[in-house]
Parts: sequence; structure tokens; C-alpha cells
Amino acid sequence: MKIMPNRMDYGFMKYQKEFEEKALSVLRSGWYVLGKEVAAFEENFAAYTGAKCCVGLASGLDALWIAVKLLGIGPGDEVLVQGNTYIASVMGITINGATPVFVEPDEYYQIDADKIEEKITEKTKAVMVVHLYGHVADMDKITHICKKHHLKLIEDCAQSHGALYKGKMTGTFGDAGCFSFYPSKNLGAFGDAGALVTNDPGLAGEARIFRNYGSEKRYYNKVAGANSRLDELQAGLLNVRLAHMKEITDERRQLADTYGRELHQKEILLPSTRSDTCPVWHQYVIRTGRRQELIDYLNDRGIGTIIHYPIPPHLSEAYHSLGHKKGDFPITESYADSVLSIPLYTDMREEEQQYTIDCINAFT
Ligand SMILES: *Cc1c(COP(=O)(O)O)cnc(C)c1O
Repeated sequence: MKIMPNRMDYGFMKYQKEFEEKALSVLRSGWYVLGKEVAAFEENFAAYTGAKCCVGLASGLDALWIAVKLLGIGPGDEVLVQGNTYIASVMGITINGATPVFVEPDEYYQIDADKIEEKITEKTKAVMVVHLYGHVADMDKITHICKKHHLKLIEDCAQSHGALYKGKMTGTFGDAGCFSFYPSKNLGAFGDAGALVTNDPGLAGEARIFRNYGSEKRYYNKVAGANSRLDELQAGLLNVRLAHMKEITDERRQLADTYGRELHQKEILLPSTRSDTCPVWHQYVIRTGRRQELIDYLNDRGIGTIIHYPIPPHLSEAYHSLGHKKGDFPITESYADSVLSIPLYTDMREEEQQYTIDCINAFT
């Protein structure tokens, strides 16, 4: 059997007829950018998350940097972010000339709320929380810290569509929730797409203008903005997928439950879930001290895996200028050296998962 770490064709085929009908209807409509599909998606996604407003954008990274920028953060400012994130979170900060200050993660791979306050300086303007792997950060503690120190709170929800903390959706706790709809995300488009959600209609209005060259009225430019528009085709396809989000998320939870129940392998540590949260399992991430051996062993049996992520941003060549070195963030680094994502995707077949489980359990 050949099992890919992630596959997007199953997720397409599951709703193929609906996707194809929607694509055709957009193609035939003669209207391709910022039209009724985008307006409908913004309304649908705001309702889904429980946020007041949603602004469709061209990518998750755009949602992050535009949120950081519109919240007034720039050169000389510091933003706290967990060390073990995907590099896009950090780029959302540095594109604006602001400085990322890394915080170690907790046992759930989220920013360790107990280590935030020690990093706050006079320059700190915001905390960026990344709900990594579809798990959820300790939002009560974090919102309390942000209020106490007058910090903005930005949530990177690129991996957490639908994840809940005490029944409330990620992305709605702070000033802005930033989503990516890159094809491999839980709510995936068929190309690049993103969105920002917020309870602040003022911020949403600014983002709406900013994404379209800073213009509300054609050829009248209010601010020096950018082109970060969500297109009609992606929005239309996202409307189709969003309507199935409950089913898609329930399925991922079931797959994760099955792994949790049936994996019995003393060489690996299974992920655990914070109480009061309901994760959406963007990745099923295990840890092992024998990672390369396990990767090779599974590869030999046709099972692909991925490391999310092998090089933490503070050790990335791109951020050499921040002056960090190996050893600065030991927990972040030990995760980078031991994490491994095993296959989990929409419409994963029972026999695919069972084979994966059997192989992992038989690893010696
Ligand atoms: C995917 C991802 C992003 C970036 O989203 P794009 O749509 O690819 O720009 C940002 N942060 C995290 C945590 C991600 O996983």
C-alpha cells in the first residue's frame, strides 16, 4: 500500500460534483475578482467563526502582515510569538519591520502562556498566538496577559479552522484572527487564499480598503495599500467546502481518536489535548527520539511522513540577522528534532489508517 502524508485529491473527489458546478458557474459569470462569491464567503466565514467581520485576502501570510500593519505595529516594535511555528507567522511580523521575540512552547506545542510575561519589554506591542497543528493555546491566560499589559492579540489560525477553546472559536479572542486557505489546510481552496476575521468593524473596513490598493472608490486611493484580493473562483470553491466543514472536522477528530486509541508504540509520544479545548487535528504529530529510523522504516513500507518543522525560525538562514544561536530555545529545538506528522487527511480510508497503525506498532 502507498500512503501519502497528505493528499488533496480525496478531498476534492469527495465533493467533486459541487466543486465542478461552482467553478463552472463562476467561469460563466464573467466576474472574477471581488464579487458576490467573495461577499458570500465573508458572510459565511464570519458566521462560522462567530466573528463580527471577515475580510477575504490573497493568502494567510497576507492576513498576518496586514493585521500586524493595521494594528499599528512597525519598526522598533516587538511581537511575541512561539518559537516552534511555521516561518510565515514570523514573516507576518518582519515584513512590517517589527521584531519577533520568541517564546518557548508548552507540551501541547502552543505558546507557553507562563513564559510570555518574562519576555515583555517597553517595546512589546502584541502577542501572536499560533494554534499550531490545529490545537489550541491557553486563551484565558493569554487574553488576561494582553489586557493587563495593553498588548494587541493576533491569532494565526492557518491550522485551526473550527478549533474551540471553551466552546469559542479560535480567531475570535483578540484583535484579529488570520486564516490561510492554502489547499492543504483544513479548509482548503484550490490555490492561494486567506482571510482576516475581527470583531472590530473599523479594522475590517481598513483591511477591505488596504487589500484593494487602498481604494474604496475606483481610482480614489485613500491609503498606500496592496493587492491582496480573494478571487471569485477561490471564494466560490471555499463556499462549497465551508458548507461541509462540520463533516470534514468530525472526520479528522475520528481519525485522531483512532490513532490515539490504537497506536501502542513505546518509542513514540502521542499528542495530548488541553482540557477545555476541541482541536481540529490539522496534523497528527508524534515525537520520537528515533525519528530518522522511523521515517526510513515507514518509507520502506510505502508510508510517507512530514516533519513540521525541521528548522525553527530562530535558526533559519532567513533570520540570521536576529542573532540567535543553537541552544537559545531548547524546547523549540528539541521539538524540531523529534516531531513527525503521520498521515491524516480528508477521506482517509480505513484500510490506509489501519495499515499505518499496524506498521507503526510493529516498529522495533
Ligand atoms: C500555512 C500557514 C501560514 C501561511 O499561509 P499561506 O496561505 O501559505 O500564506 C501561516 N501560518 C501558519 C501557521 C501556517 O501553517
